[in-house]
Amino acid sequence: MSDDLSVVLPERVDAQRLAEQGAVLEGRCPATLLTRLAAQASGVEGATARLVFARDEAGRVLVRGRVKGGITTPCQRCLEPVTLVLESEFEFRPEEEGEEFLPPPGGAAVPAERELPVRALVEDELLLLCPMIPCHPPGSCQPAAATEMATAENGRKNPFDVLAALRQNAGDPPPDPAAARNPEE
Ligand SMILES: [Zn+2]
Repeated sequence: MSDDLSVVLPERVDAQRLAEQGAVLEGRCPATLLTRLAAQASGVEGATARLVFARDEAGRVLVRGRVKGGITTPCQRCLEPVTLVLESEFEFRPEEEGEEFLPPPGGAAVPAERELPVRALVEDELLLLCPMIPCHPPGSCQPAAATEMATAENGRKNPFDVLAALRQNAGDPPPDPAAARNPEE
C-alpha cells in the first residue's frame, strides 16, 4: 500500500458491479471524515485502505480489505499521549450483513441506498482495532499514580507555613462585600 494515495475512498460503491469486474479500490480516508474514530481518541491520522472485490464459491460478493490508520490517545498507564498504528486485513461479505446489500431482482442497477458504504466499513475496522486499554509498550512508561505521589511528596508544604498564613489573614479586616461584587464602581 503506497503512502501517498491521493484518491479519497468513495463513500459508497456498487459492490455487485465491482465484484463482477474483480476491481481493486485503493484510497485514503482523510482524518476529517473519520468522525467516529475521532470520538475515541484525542487525535486521528488519515487512513489508507485497499479493497479487492470478488465473488466467493457461492457467488456472493467478497471484499478482501487492508486498512491502516493511526490514533493518538492518553496512555492508560502514564496518562501521556501515545500514538498507535491501527493496521489489519479483513474479509467482508456484504450479502451476509443484510438484505440491503443483496442484488436487486432482474439484474437491475443497484440503487444508491444498496451500495456498500466502504468508508464506513473502513472506519468500522479501525474502531475494532482500537485497544480497550491503550498504553505505551510495557516497561516504557511509569504509572501516573506513582509520578503524582512523587510530585506531592516534593511539593508538600511545611504545616507551620500554613499556620502562619492563617494567623496573618485573621488580623485582616473583613472584605467589603459591595466592592467584591462590583469592583469597577
Ligand atoms: Zn504510557
